[in-house]
Amino acid sequence: MLQLHTYIYTLQNKIPFTTAYGSRRQTESLIVVLKDEQGNWGIGEGVPVRYLGYTAQEALTLLERHRTEIENYDLQDALAFWEFAKSFLHKYPAALCALDIAAHDLLARKAQKPLYQVWGLVLHDKMPLSNYTLSLAEKDEMLAQMQSIDFPIYKVKMGKDTDISLLKDLRKQTDAILRVDANASWSVEQTLQNFSVLSETQIEFLEQPLSPTDWQGMGVLHKNRTLPLIADESCQDLNDIEKCSSFFDGINIKLTKCGGLTPALQMIKLARKLGLKVMAGCMTESSVGISALAQLLPLLDYVDMDGSTLISNDFAEGVFLQNGKAVFPKRVGIGVRLKQEYLSFFGF
Ligand SMILES: [Mg+2]
Repeated sequence: MLQLHTYIYTLQNKIPFTTAYGSRRQTESLIVVLKDEQGNWGIGEGVPVRYLGYTAQEALTLLERHRTEIENYDLQDALAFWEFAKSFLHKYPAALCALDIAAHDLLARKAQKPLYQVWGLVLHDKMPLSNYTLSLAEKDEMLAQMQSIDFPIYKVKMGKDTDISLLKDLRKQTDAILRVDANASWSVEQTLQNFSVLSETQIEFLEQPLSPTDWQGMGVLHKNRTLPLIADESCQDLNDIEKCSSFFDGINIKLTKCGGLTPALQMIKLARKLGLKVMAGCMTESSVGISALAQLLPLLDYVDMDGSTLISNDFAEGVFLQNGKAVFPKRVGIGVRLKQEYLSFFGF
C-alpha cells in the first residue's frame, strides 16, 4: 500500500519570465509525495508545458481520480510503475512526471543510494555545465540580466520581433557560450537570414526556430544550417525522436513533456542510437524537479537546469548550481530535503 499526497505549489519568479509565448511572474507546480508502509517516502514535481494548454490543477484532478489504483499498487520497480500509471495519465504528462519522480525517489531512498547510482551512473568531470536563461526583454534589459549573474553559458530567449543584432551586443560583453531559443516563433526565411549573425557571434546552437508543425520548413533549414539545430517543441516524447533525427542535430528532453525520468532514460538511449546530441531542459521548477533532472547529467551533452535559480520561494534544497556547475548534496534519492518551514505544508 502506498499513500498518495498531491499539492499545487505556486512558484514565484524573481523577475518576470518571458518567452515568445508571453510573460509570467508565477508558475503553478504539481507536487506529489508518495509514502510506503515502512515509512519510506519520495517526492516528485511536474510543471505543465505552457503550449500544451492544460493546468497543474487539471493534472492534479486526473491524478486524484486514480488515487485508489495508485495507493493499491505494489511498488517494486519504477519502469513497471510508470507503464501502469501511463495507461491513465498519458493525457497530462506533468502528472505522470511528478508521480514517476516520486517513485524513483522513494525506491532510491529505500535502497539508500543516490538515484543516479541506482541506475549505475557515476558523476564525472565532463558533465555539461548549465546555461542561465535570459528572459525575452528589451536589449538593454537582456544585457543587464546577463551582467547580473556570472554563468559560463547563457541561453538567449528570442521572439518573432527580436532584433538579431542583440546577439552582437551580448557577444561584445562576454566570452561565455551563447545559445539561442526561438520557441517556435521564427519563419523559415527569417531563420535563413539569421544564420549569418548566429555564426558570426559563435552561437553554440539554435533551439526550435520553427513551429513544430512545419516539417517542410525544417527540411530547408536542416539543409542550409550553419550551426546545430535542437528540437524542443518538436520532440515531446519517445515517439518523436526518429522523425526529429532527420531534421535536427539534437533533442531537448524535458521530464514534464515526456512524463518523467523513466521515459527520459529511454529517449536518451534512442537518441544516442540515432546519433543525436542530447540536451535536457527544465521549466520554472523547484529544486525537486531540478534535482530529478540532475540525475541524468552523466548522460547529457547539454543541460538547461536553471529553473530553481529563477524562483524566490523554493521549498526544497537539493542539487544546485554554482557558476553553472551542478553541486550534488550527499543525500540519497534525488538528493532533496524540504526546508524546515515547509514540512507541515507537505504533510511531514
Ligand atoms: Mg526551448
